Amino acid sequence: MDVCVILTYRCNSKCSMCYVWQNPTKADEEISLNTLRKIPSGIDYLNLTGGEPTLRLDLPEIVDLLYPKAMTLEISSNGLLSERLEPIIRKYPDIKIRFSLEGFGETNNMIRGERDGDKKKIDGLFRLKKLGAKDIGIATVIQDDNSEGVVELFRFAKKHGFELATSTLHNGFQFHKSDNFPYDRLKIAKYMEDLIAEMLKGVNVKNWFRAYLNMGLMAKLLGNRRMLPCAAAEDFIFIDPWSDVYACNVRPDLKLGNLETQDWDEIWNSPSVEEVREKVHNCTQNCWMVGSAKTAMRQKKYPKLPSAGPLLWVVYNKLKIMFGGKINFERYIDNKTAAQDKQVYYREFYLNKDVKRNIQLKSDNHYSIFGKFINK
Ligand code: SF4
Repeated sequence: MDVCVILTYRCNSKCSMCYVWQNPTKADEEISLNTLRKIPSGIDYLNLTGGEPTLRLDLPEIVDLLYPKAMTLEISSNGLLSERLEPIIRKYPDIKIRFSLEGFGETNNMIRGERDGDKKKIDGLFRLKKLGAKDIGIATVIQDDNSEGVVELFRFAKKHGFELATSTLHNGFQFHKSDNFPYDRLKIAKYMEDLIAEMLKGVNVKNWFRAYLNMGLMAKLLGNRRMLPCAAAEDFIFIDPWSDVYACNVRPDLKLGNLETQDWDEIWNSPSVEEVREKVHNCTQNCWMVGSAKTAMRQKKYPKLPSAGPLLWVVYNKLKIMFGGKINFERYIDNKTAAQDKQVYYREFYLNKDVKRNIQLKSDNHYSIFGKFINK
């Protein structure tokens, strides 16, 4: 099972596609070490994220506690305070670190609302690499404002031994907004086709499967159905900063329990689990986030191995590219169904803007007020 722990909703970026930074948690209300202790050993993949996880001053203790419980531990950070990760990497060089980077210069800085964010992150990646980090990389949200540069970003990552993880715009309760729709889906898809072909060219097997994952992102973007069924509440869960456990980070109605007030087994043995799984089974949200895609792409029994569909796709298309052929995207994705949003949305950028922050308290009625989340 994969577990994603949102350690905090405090954040020092001002992203245009996520308003967590406008709605921070109170530090003393965030999930405690005692609650995190209840997560059992044997987790396949444990992701520590936020908000910005490095704002938790007890992050080193959290890592000490959770590192032995997971086969892979990832810290997803914006990379602005990378020096806080240095002692962690010195101790655990095999921890996976991903920094959110949307491109170079203004592309990143506008989308993420960060002053010189791109430089800070890239410097941070090189410093961590020098310290011996074994699995570091970039995470980027492919959207209208950066899709043109995504192949360049991939080549940069590859050249320096960094990984590139991708996602695309989607809505979800934790973002405090529900208008994360692309303006020009076909344009973004075109650049994604280039990225997929580029990923299949090299010798890095992980990138071949990332190419498949990007096919899924294209399918979502163009309004096709998910390429593989979702296994939320079976193969992965989210825990929010108030210790509430959810099947995923899109639908706030898929709550499984609370890890502060309940034990792990109590949550999994509660009757609500089956109800939530049924809802997941019938879910019509067309999302394909890394969490739900990655788990769907691998075998249940041997989570290090890919399932048959992605494996066959990779073998067939890798051979095609090797022998000078091209991927027949139309065979997998119907781009005629691509919804071009009638209304042209404009995502506001917050680089130089002061915005009033509303602290979210534990006593608030979280998520129910944040509208409907449709990933059309
Ligand atoms: S498909 Fe539904 S249940 Fe699965 S992650 Fe998306 S919103 Fe959640």
